[in-house]
Amino acid sequence: MARQVKRAFKYRFYPTGEQAAELSRTFGCVRLVYNKALEERTRAWYGEQRRLSYVQSSAALTEWKKTAELAFLAEVSSVPLQQALRHLQTAFGNFFAQRAQYPRFKSRKKSRASAEYTRSAFSWREGRLTLAKMAAPLDIRWSRPLPEGSEPTTATVSRDAAGRWFVSLLCDDGITPAPATKNAVGIDAGITSLVTLSTGEKVANPRHERRDRARLAGAQRELSRKAKGSANREKARERVARVHARIADRRRDVLHKLSTRLVRENQTVVIEDLTVRNLLNNHTLARAISDVSWRQLRSMLEYKCAWYGRELVVVDRFFPSSKLCGNCGTVAAKMALNVREWTCDTCGVVHDRDINAARNIKAAGLAVSACGAGVRPQGSSPGGQPALKQEPLQREP
Ligand SMILES: [Zn+2]
Repeated sequence: MARQVKRAFKYRFYPTGEQAAELSRTFGCVRLVYNKALEERTRAWYGEQRRLSYVQSSAALTEWKKTAELAFLAEVSSVPLQQALRHLQTAFGNFFAQRAQYPRFKSRKKSRASAEYTRSAFSWREGRLTLAKMAAPLDIRWSRPLPEGSEPTTATVSRDAAGRWFVSLLCDDGITPAPATKNAVGIDAGITSLVTLSTGEKVANPRHERRDRARLAGAQRELSRKAKGSANREKARERVARVHARIADRRRDVLHKLSTRLVRENQTVVIEDLTVRNLLNNHTLARAISDVSWRQLRSMLEYKCAWYGRELVVVDRFFPSSKLCGNCGTVAAKMALNVREWTCDTCGVVHDRDINAARNIKAAGLAVSACGAGVRPQGSSPGGQPALKQEPLQREP
């Protein structure tokens, strides 16, 4: 039986000069409205222990538009501004429920520039998307078609640090659960390889990544040598962003294919909760990239399992997956990170570190699953990432 789910599909597009200007203006207004509303809420909360509601923020926005210095807010589509206030409301909801830290101000440089248009603020005709305040539809590169009969309910436009434009279309779709199976798989996060599966399979890092990482390191060194505020620094910053984007794109691609395959082939998918890594303060580039990938993979597995009626089990982060002998259950005393293969002192079995870990994770997950313990959503673990900042990463490969 098909079930209704929301799915987002992200595409690159090429705005005309006019559209780019309109969108840049809108991004600026979205950021301003978000920050100004945050400022007011902060004043109310810390000054008077008073919580402002979305309705109050929205009423304030109406007043701002009437003032001379903020009259320009009325020139862009009002919907993205309202959506910014809704996002702020969600951020405060998460904060008050102790799921996330106090909302932060959006900075021009560090925050992703984006604007969210709901159904009333765009038209969708024969596969062409036209945003409010624009005469022509967006020139979207349909890298893959929307599922047949899908109609977007929300369109989020964004520009990344490399200056590329994207539109993410949220659709309500009917999804058919994946065919029944009893298979289970454990996944170990890696650095030298992307992940290792309990089946013994090692999934390699994306092709060309070693070279791209070297380029990224070089571009970062270059950037650090440029004087602040100089034109050369801006150029160097763009180069770093471009290499970053290329690495991220290739990884995302691989992760999408991998997560779809794992979810289709298995009823139970077991992963390790690795949020503890954030506390380790390990700043190597490889580790940083692998941490981001792991969070992405986990989030993809979470929503794809939900789509296809599969179970995702997250094993406790203090589980000694690497040091536990999968054969006899002995826990080895100590193991340096660079040990790839080890021999159990008790039973003498030789282990590939990662495969042994993935098998242990699978076994632990099946034990947890049999007890009926639930899965904690990402971000709710103490010390973990505060709730996902971006829109739900629901994308099909
Ligand atoms: Zn052993």
